[in-house]
Amino acid sequence: MTNPRTLNNLIGGQWVPSASGRAEPVYNPATEEVLAYVPMSSKEEVDQAVAAAREAFASWSRTPVPRRARILFRYQQLLVEHWDELATLITLENGKSYTEAHGEVLRGIECVEFAAGAPSLMMGKQLPDIATNLESGMYRYPIGVASGITPFNFPMMVPCWMFPLAIACGNAFVLKPSERTPLLAERLAQLFLEAGLPAGVLSIVHGAHDVVNGILEHPGIAAVSFVGSQPVAEYVYKTASAHGKRVQALAGAKNHSIVLPDADLDAAVTQIVSAAFGSAGERCMACSVVVAVGDIGDALVEKLKQAADAITIGNGMEKDVFLGPVIRQPQKERTVGYIEAGEREGAKLVRDGRLDAAASGGGYFVGPTLFDEVSCEMKIWQDEIFAPVLSVMRANSLDEAIAIANESEFANGACLFTKDGGSVRQFRETIDAGMLGINLGVPAPMAFFPFSGWKKSFYGDLHANGTDGVEFYTRKKMVTTRW
Ligand code: NAD
Repeated sequence: MTNPRTLNNLIGGQWVPSASGRAEPVYNPATEEVLAYVPMSSKEEVDQAVAAAREAFASWSRTPVPRRARILFRYQQLLVEHWDELATLITLENGKSYTEAHGEVLRGIECVEFAAGAPSLMMGKQLPDIATNLESGMYRYPIGVASGITPFNFPMMVPCWMFPLAIACGNAFVLKPSERTPLLAERLAQLFLEAGLPAGVLSIVHGAHDVVNGILEHPGIAAVSFVGSQPVAEYVYKTASAHGKRVQALAGAKNHSIVLPDADLDAAVTQIVSAAFGSAGERCMACSVVVAVGDIGDALVEKLKQAADAITIGNGMEKDVFLGPVIRQPQKERTVGYIEAGEREGAKLVRDGRLDAAASGGGYFVGPTLFDEVSCEMKIWQDEIFAPVLSVMRANSLDEAIAIANESEFANGACLFTKDGGSVRQFRETIDAGMLGINLGVPAPMAFFPFSGWKKSFYGDLHANGTDGVEFYTRKKMVTTRW
């Protein structure tokens, strides 16, 4: 691309240049090429988007639900037709492999499919005889202008957790996509407009802190959905709720996989390697710690190393590449810093991804990195590194392994590898995590189930997606009638 363009905001159905005069480059992390510039919009531009959204809400919220749903059905068709193009955009701006990007598009489409069920999802409830000649009915309504602030790591899936369902429920929506991956959001909005979405129902305001603060403080916004890192999630939750909004803020993670001695070790290794190093470890459901129970530790580490050595690293657009770059140079440097810290703190470096990074030339590459003999005192265990770095720990029993995982301040996902039903039950009942996997590596729930963690991995009440999402984006009226 010779002359990268500057993206426009979407306000009132029009693509308008930001007046801020400030923009940042959007890089292809595999090549360091500038793909585009993203404007750093101002709070005033949030005001404009919210004004247009409020105007659109007046008629959109009164549009019959089946008619709203029909636009979602058309949108689903367009997303399917543009599947390859969307996957390519994800790989270009995020760096993950094309195969993973293709899978991510499916996850986004499933959200739209769920949202197209709005006529059923919006239904209320009645009880014809709460007392003699008295009846009660619950009616469900949209809440107004909802908003979304999204991370870089799933440029399609995460925005699709939010705006399709919010809009299907009759709300208008203002999206602030990650400034590091704004291209896919733009394409998603273009296709929604093409599907017949009325002007102003979906707005995009590109930018960073100013736009986020504009959203959090705006009196015209009723709800904020946030997905991103833990400190920002906490800030968003506190600030937006102090301004009277509903908030759901999905945050960081440190996901443990426990491997019991009776597990199929080869199958576990395949799952764990994919969960730890897929998407360069930049997944909130990435496996970042393995706890080996009993005497399988050495064999497990050996197999993990072999599998990590076999990974193909490179530009995600190339065939058979499994591991792409991390998102930016500072993320690469931060990862190298953690590898150094792990060595300093006494963990055993089994595989050093810095060597792959050094060999890569351009792009923000870090190879699969494997530490053994990690303990809870180490930073590499405590912090979310969000990169292809996997720590192995040892435990004598399932009890001990669960206790290690439960020490973490995060509690997003957790996995258990075993053939034993009793262990599965113990794990399910005692682990602190919102999303569990048995004999699989990435237990990400699908669009029709709630998605979220516990503890510092989540701030709020109602999770994303599924009927939780419907509850979040709607409010209820109770009507009690005497006949
Ligand atoms: P991030 O927190 O840096 O950014 C997320 C959003 O917040 C972006 O839109 C960004 O512009 C904005 N933002 C960043 N710093 C801000 C600040 N100081 N003030 C106001 N706004 C700010 O997160 P990221 O690096 O884009 O994404 C990775 C993080 O997201 C990881 O921690 C990952 O675990 C988390 N994540 C969680 C889930 C989940 O379901 N729990 C899903 C995906 C990603």
